[in-house]
Amino acid sequence: MEESSFVTALKSGSLQALSRIPKSDLHSHAGRGGHISFFEKFANVKITPHDGSFESLSEMNLWLKENVKCHLPQGAEGYLKQVEGSFVQAAADNVTVLALSFCVDEIQLLGGMESFKNAIDGLRENYAPDTVLLPDLGLGYFPEEVNDLDEIFSYKWFSGVDIMNGAGTYTMSELKRICGKAKDNGLILKAHIGEFGEAEDVWRYAEELGLDQIQHGVLAAKSEKVMRYLAENRIQINVCPTSNVMLKVCADYKTHPIHTLFANGVRVTINTDDLLIFNSTLSEEYLKLYRAGMKASDLEVIRKNGIGREGCL
Ligand SMILES: [Zn+2]
Repeated sequence: MEESSFVTALKSGSLQALSRIPKSDLHSHAGRGGHISFFEKFANVKITPHDGSFESLSEMNLWLKENVKCHLPQGAEGYLKQVEGSFVQAAADNVTVLALSFCVDEIQLLGGMESFKNAIDGLRENYAPDTVLLPDLGLGYFPEEVNDLDEIFSYKWFSGVDIMNGAGTYTMSELKRICGKAKDNGLILKAHIGEFGEAEDVWRYAEELGLDQIQHGVLAAKSEKVMRYLAENRIQINVCPTSNVMLKVCADYKTHPIHTLFANGVRVTINTDDLLIFNSTLSEEYLKLYRAGMKASDLEVIRKNGIGREGCL
C-alpha cells in the first residue's frame, strides 16, 4: 500500500508538511488555542513560553495571566483577541475540524447568546473559513450557569456540552439532569474526567451520564476493565499529550497512556487542550508521539478518527 502524505511527513519530521495535512482538535478551550507568536505580534512584546511543568492548575492560570493576558485589552476586546488567536492557529495548522469549549460567563461577557454567536461565527469566517467549528458549552464553573441553559440551547448553535466538574460544582444527580437536557437538545455529551483521580471515575461518569466522548480520560489506561468498557461502547477519548506531561499526569511521551489506550482498542484522538499555555501545536503533538515510539500508521488511524464522520459525533 502506498504511504500516505501524513505518514511521509511524520517519518521525515517535517512540521511544515504536517501542518498542511487536515487534522482535528476536539479538546481546546476557546480563549487558549492561539499560538504565543500571535500574541507577541499583536502586543509587540516577547513572551517566554513556560519552561518545565506546572505544579497545579492555579499555577498554570497564573502563568497565563502574568505572561499573556497582561498584554491584552481588558474585557470583551481582549477575550475576542484570544479567540481570534485560536482560529488563526487552526488555519495555520490546517485544523479542519475544531471543537472549542466556551463557558457561560464568556457568553455573558459578550452580552448574551445572539451577540456571542455572531461574534464567534464572524471570527471563524474571517480567520478560519475552511474550518468546521463544533462549539461545546463548558459547564461546571458556577452553579448559576444552569439558569441560562434553556435560552442557550434554544439557539441550536452549540454541538456539544463539555462538563468540567473538577471543583465539584455539581452532584452526580445534578449532572444527570444537565446531560439529560443536553441530550434532549441533540447535543454530544463530553466531560473532563480521568486526568486526575482514578481509572474507575472514567467508567462511572461515562456510564451514569451516557457520555459520547471523554476529555483526557488517560487514567483509564490503568484498568483493563475500564479500557474494555470504553472500547466496547466506542466512547472516544480526546487525549492532550503535552498538557498531561506539563501537568505531571505522566512523566513523558514515551510512557504516555495513549500507547496503552490505543493498543487496547480504545478510540482516541490527539488534541491541544490549551495550546497558548502548553506551547505545542497539533502537528507538534503528532510528531512528539511518533518520536516517542508510536507507529506512523497508528497515528494516521488516530488522525482519521478525529476528522472522520464519527469524529464529529
Ligand atoms: Zn481541557
